[in-house]
Amino acid sequence: MAKIGLIDVDGHNFPNLPLMKISAYHKSIGDNVEWYDAMFSGHMDKVYMSKVFTFTPDYPYYIHADEVQKGGTGYNYPDGGDALPEHIEHIYPDYSIYYDKIPEVKNTAYGFLTRGCPRGCEFCIVAQKEGKSSRKVANLAEFWRGQKNICLLDPNMFACPEWRELSQQLIDSNAWVDFSQGCDIRLMTAEKAEYLKRMKIKQVHFAWDRYEDKDFIVDKFREFKEITQWDKRKLPVYVLVNFNTSLEQDLDRIYTLRNLGYWPYVMIYEKDKLSKGHVMRRLQRWVNMRPIFAKVPIFEEYLKR
Ligand code: SF4
Repeated sequence: MAKIGLIDVDGHNFPNLPLMKISAYHKSIGDNVEWYDAMFSGHMDKVYMSKVFTFTPDYPYYIHADEVQKGGTGYNYPDGGDALPEHIEHIYPDYSIYYDKIPEVKNTAYGFLTRGCPRGCEFCIVAQKEGKSSRKVANLAEFWRGQKNICLLDPNMFACPEWRELSQQLIDSNAWVDFSQGCDIRLMTAEKAEYLKRMKIKQVHFAWDRYEDKDFIVDKFREFKEITQWDKRKLPVYVLVNFNTSLEQDLDRIYTLRNLGYWPYVMIYEKDKLSKGHVMRRLQRWVNMRPIFAKVPIFEEYLKR
């Protein structure tokens, strides 16, 4: 029986899916798995370290183990390094390792039904990491066993040719579905919107990142709203700023979305490089603090205050 240690280097409030699968695999062959602790764990046969974000500092302590394996985009940008072997990639995750750290994991299943995205947006690593097409990689039952919530990590499920079959699985689950990485409004059709309506959904995130999409994206937003009749609280839309748009174009997207009955949500590209009082940070604060955005409708007014 080998002693296996795990280190979630980011340690944010979100479970690390590869580590949950690695844990499930090692437990299935009788190994002992625990979170690695430099002070108390002692010598391990193998320690796995996973790091998602490049900005997270690395694990600072010496690791007492025969073998250390590192993975994730935080270590290997942008492709994430070696993929998990197939027999681990498709195992049911060991959610229990997070029960004490993140209580909502007890009621939530996490996973990918599809990988890849045909878009290849310049600010996004998905196409490089997972390929420039969306393909089915799993059925829902691979990572869901009756949990109340399903958190999908798919980058663009509705770009996958099997979107109908996968949507039906989500409908049949009767669980609350969270498309955590958002849905692509540019691919929405009346049929896709009807499928979404049949799922239990608290919120669907869309994005309007490229200003030049305005000519057709506005009609897409309008059509989706007409079909679903969902309230704006259910319809946040990411608006990427500080990438290749002007402030005027940012405000145009924000005001247009609000007029269409959506809730814009500003995301700043390379935010850490901006000074504290930068206008983009102020724009983000104005829009994302919803009570303020509802009370002060014009950005210039907000700046005066
Ligand atoms: S559509 Fe979304 S997932 Fe696809 S490349 Fe663009 S940002 Fe990434």
